[in-house]
Amino acid sequence: MTVTTPDSPIKHQIPSYLDPNNIGPYEIFLEQVERVTPYLGHLTKWVETLKRPKRILVVDIPVHLDDGTVAHFEGYRVQHNTSRGPAKGGVRFHQDVTLSEVMALSAWMTIKNAAVNLPYGGGKGGIRIDPRNYSQSELERITRRYTSEIGLIIGPEKDIPAPDVNTGPQTMAWMMDTYSMNVGRTATGVVTGKPISLGGSLGRSDATGRGVFVTGAEAMKKLGMPMEGARIAVQGFGNVGEAAARIFHGAGAKIVAIQDVTGTIVSEKGIDPAKALAHLKATGKITGLEGTEEITRDEFWSVDCDVMVPAALEKQITLANAGQIRAKLIVEGANGPTIPAADDLLAEKGITVVPDVLANAGGVTVSYFEWVQDFSSFFWTEEEINNRLDRIMQDAFRSLWDVKEQHGVTLRTAVYIVSCTRVLEARALRGLYP
Ligand code: GLU
Repeated sequence: MTVTTPDSPIKHQIPSYLDPNNIGPYEIFLEQVERVTPYLGHLTKWVETLKRPKRILVVDIPVHLDDGTVAHFEGYRVQHNTSRGPAKGGVRFHQDVTLSEVMALSAWMTIKNAAVNLPYGGGKGGIRIDPRNYSQSELERITRRYTSEIGLIIGPEKDIPAPDVNTGPQTMAWMMDTYSMNVGRTATGVVTGKPISLGGSLGRSDATGRGVFVTGAEAMKKLGMPMEGARIAVQGFGNVGEAAARIFHGAGAKIVAIQDVTGTIVSEKGIDPAKALAHLKATGKITGLEGTEEITRDEFWSVDCDVMVPAALEKQITLANAGQIRAKLIVEGANGPTIPAADDLLAEKGITVVPDVLANAGGVTVSYFEWVQDFSSFFWTEEEINNRLDRIMQDAFRSLWDVKEQHGVTLRTAVYIVSCTRVLEARALRGLYP
């Protein structure tokens, strides 16, 4: 089926199971692939592989709620590509999860894993649920039933889930246990992002934020921006945004704005992320922190800053706000925060974007370390992990920056050129079966 949509001038071939009038986030990925196709040379023959996820599983998750009633949830696991290795990517719990979103997120994992050269394809999962409305024991039952249902296709050598939005080490512990019970052995390598006492890795919880900092710092060096006193605005104060803010702050930068679901705060003197976190834990919201002022959600985009870190959800930077952004550099902690048309506008304005598929690859990189440690049952020190993470992120950044310069394209297109080439080279070498 060929369709055009308001967000894109391109006619997309879309799979018939997506609504042609509302393709959703997968459209962003399709457009990104279109943009890179002219650079793929003889591999163009295989490009359709990238546009179609390899395998999609949609599951019904029936569970008893605490009040004795039965509720049903929709769950997904999408394996976008396995040309370079097992599928790998997180599981998100969110009320807005759709098939299109999980398809896009799994495709971005394929690109991300190839960008930092991990021996993985891309996968992603999700449950359409607002976890705030359910008790711990309900969430445990939901997670366990979901894991059993997707147990058909996951496994340490097949597809390795991990945390994403609204999931964390406890979710992974339940997933690991459920899978292990079903296969009759303790299979720690089936998920990453586990608690340390269950085969988790030191450094995993901060890894995504750390990678955002490392790639951001590299970009700042290229752009001649000093770290000391650099003004940083962070959207999202969860696992990624909080760690990134804390590490930037620790390196001498000034956090001038933080936005999360509860509101937006600014401070000319700078916000101490540790105080913001303590305040959030104590009051349930970010607003009202001493020494800060509250602004509207929209005003966040025009905050006077040098670096903006969108670390929340997709489709945040759009044509409605890209024109207001005053930062010189955007480092994408979230997956898919910028729509392609806004990307063009940012490029026209001379704003450099470190794209999601590079900037937030620190999480899956330490997931890879965790998986390797689980397989070898030999665990590394935090220092070893952080050193290896920093080196991988710095090397990837520098070589991708060179590709950007060589082709005169954005860093996002450079990453797509390198990643799509790696994936399609593997695809071409493997050939078609049968
Ligand atoms: N959910 C994270 C991401 O989007 C990490 C995935 C993983 O560790 O497998 O990159």
